[in-house]
Amino acid sequence: MAASPDSGGLAAALLLAAGSGERLGAGGPKALVPLAGRPMYQFSLNAFRAAGRIGPILIAVPPGHTGDFADAGDATLVEGGAARSLSVANALAALDAGDSDCDLVAVHDAARPLVDPELIDSAVELLEASPGVDAVIAAAPVTDTVKRVGAGGLVEQTLDRSKLRAVQTPQVFRRASLADAIAAGEPENATDDASLIEAAGGSVVVIDSPSFNIKVTVREDLAIAEARIADRD
Ligand code: C5P
Repeated sequence: MAASPDSGGLAAALLLAAGSGERLGAGGPKALVPLAGRPMYQFSLNAFRAAGRIGPILIAVPPGHTGDFADAGDATLVEGGAARSLSVANALAALDAGDSDCDLVAVHDAARPLVDPELIDSAVELLEASPGVDAVIAAAPVTDTVKRVGAGGLVEQTLDRSKLRAVQTPQVFRRASLADAIAAGEPENATDDASLIEAAGGSVVVIDSPSFNIKVTVREDLAIAEARIADRD
């Protein structure tokens, strides 16, 4: 049976597009940089629309740029904050203001345009099926050997690669757990939202994600993403 757009059976999507994109050097917000002829955020927006387990979609946009997201259709636009988890906090507040009854929220970087709708749905379903777990996050096995280095580049430790994961988005949360973790933690310093849950003593589980779910950070990443889009379409 199809669920209604805002039913408890669907997760709300919080698409983070409020970053400045300085490292990309595009002279404007990264989410608006053209990728295969379209603003980058539209790829992840379309993936979330195609996912079966997603209801309302909110997009955190750079302050002053709401007009640049006119093609976002029925997604709700929210001004982002000064750090990613502050953008999440603003989107959660907008979700509350809209009286949404979604118990789960899926946070995703608009800078990961290659996200797969099946991964989104699998993460939502794994969290639903995992009582006592606060978040399910996409993560890829690490293929490089990772070492911790200290002053002067001195190697201090080689980490056990079999236990390492490179964490990505989507990250799906119990809405109340995420709101509580943001309120109790330091959202201004978090590089991902799941770390706030961990800091609050919550439990986070990874779901395997394909390595192609890259984050576009530097110019070269745009070419990689365009090649993948050309292959897939
Ligand atoms: O800077 P970084 O590439 O790690 O950002 C990851 C995602 O978080 C991007 O999609 C970016 O637009 C978003 N972001 C945000 N608000 C911020 C900073 C980053 O929505 N203040």
